[in-house]
Amino acid sequence: MPAGKALPRRREPQRTCVGCREVQGKRSLIRVVRGPDGIRVDQSGKLPGRGAYLHDQRSCWEKALKGSLARALRAELDEAARAALTEYMMILSDEQNG
Ligand SMILES: [Zn+2]
Repeated sequence: MPAGKALPRRREPQRTCVGCREVQGKRSLIRVVRGPDGIRVDQSGKLPGRGAYLHDQRSCWEKALKGSLARALRAELDEAARAALTEYMMILSDEQNG
């Protein structure tokens, strides 16, 4: 399980992690958005634009940055976006828990 405890069973929108393709409740995933200001991590989950979801695990980000994130956002990751996402990735845990 990613960081955090199990959520109570209730209806929650399900999203697919673009790194590992696992489906998970939206709130336990991190949203990356392609908005008017470019591609960025959406901490609030409310920024406008096309979003993609990722676990808070470095391994998922590493996979996603190799191509699936760009595909999900239907945009090329430019240098600034890649740098910002890599920086964010570095603070994540690289544990593999399932
Ligand atoms: Zn994942």
